[in-house]
Amino acid sequence: MESPSRTKRFAVETTLAGCRERKNVLMIHTGGTIGMWKNPETGYLEPKAGWLESMLETMPEMNDSSMPKYKLKEYWPLVDSSNMIPSDWVRIANDIFTNYASYDAFLILHGTDTMAYTSSALSFMLKNLGKLVILTGAQISLMEPRNDARTNLVASLQICQQYSARIPEVTLVFGNVLLRGNRATKANSTSLNAFESPNFPPIGRIGVDIDIVDELLRLRPTEDFVLERVDSKMAISVMRFFPGIDATVVRSMLAEPLRGLVAQGFGVGNGPSNDKALMRVFKTAHDRGVTLVDVTQCLSGSVNLEAYETGNAMKDAGFISGYDMTTEAALTKLLFVLSNETSNQEKIAAQMKEDLRGELTSPDTPPEKLRQLRRLFSM
Ligand code: ASP
Repeated sequence: MESPSRTKRFAVETTLAGCRERKNVLMIHTGGTIGMWKNPETGYLEPKAGWLESMLETMPEMNDSSMPKYKLKEYWPLVDSSNMIPSDWVRIANDIFTNYASYDAFLILHGTDTMAYTSSALSFMLKNLGKLVILTGAQISLMEPRNDARTNLVASLQICQQYSARIPEVTLVFGNVLLRGNRATKANSTSLNAFESPNFPPIGRIGVDIDIVDELLRLRPTEDFVLERVDSKMAISVMRFFPGIDATVVRSMLAEPLRGLVAQGFGVGNGPSNDKALMRVFKTAHDRGVTLVDVTQCLSGSVNLEAYETGNAMKDAGFISGYDMTTEAALTKLLFVLSNETSNQEKIAAQMKEDLRGELTSPDTPPEKLRQLRRLFSM
């Protein structure tokens, strides 16, 4: 799959299409349970070319006036998202970029397992996005009599029809929520409300009505839409601290060719500071140019490396705070930043700590914004 070798641009839209006509949506089917077919011989769910399209043709709701017009672009092979790799994110981003002028919104049908990685990655690759991108999927395939595939698909298309001009960002629709894509995480392996946004309120709630929280939406960009470059072969990794973690094992993980690491620290990002050998392993990697980002392994909350000696030791070892980013957002942001800034450690650290696409809250977040988030969270 093609990896964009350089940043590409698109002139900013100056007019918005009228609101009442049926919008045009490009639906990209990448695979996942939503469109899987159960093989009667094996009993396994598997992707089948053309099957989703033939199902959609039989659904009367697809022609309802509340729904947009759509064109289905089916990838081949269709994949279980557990098999997705960064070059798949590049392919989706390229397809959105190439078709940007022709559609009002983009709906990506995707497996749930790694959907939050893809939605985070797309948010960084699609800079100054002026249109709505939704990722959705399902826990139960459209072929089952009771399924969430139909409701997630219909809700996503209705959101595209109604809000394509109002929500200029990468989002994720699942169950009863519309989430910012780089704030989402798969939190439940079997629930039909499988995704959560632990540190940022849902930007929309899907109930009897679909309610969008305008205060949370990103502003429409004033600059040109840009497809950012990502090096899908970049060597980066994720690790989780645990009591007794061994310096030798970590050393081999941090060896060449690794360029960046997201570590899930304890609590507010703390690490085992008494283990001097381990801290030296991190420091040596950092001095070699490996970017070390600390996120919390708690289910929600933020990193604060100033609170404890065990956090300060992480800072001394070269870690920068990932604040309240999800692991998915931190990893894909690291990939994006390292793909574009190869050697200047200070610039890399500054970008990792900056809020680029609404993916983090940090000490630089204005207090009134924090108050607003707290209020919206408690609703
Ligand atoms: N394994 C599937 C996938 O991620 C699960 C799903 O779609 O829900 O593609």
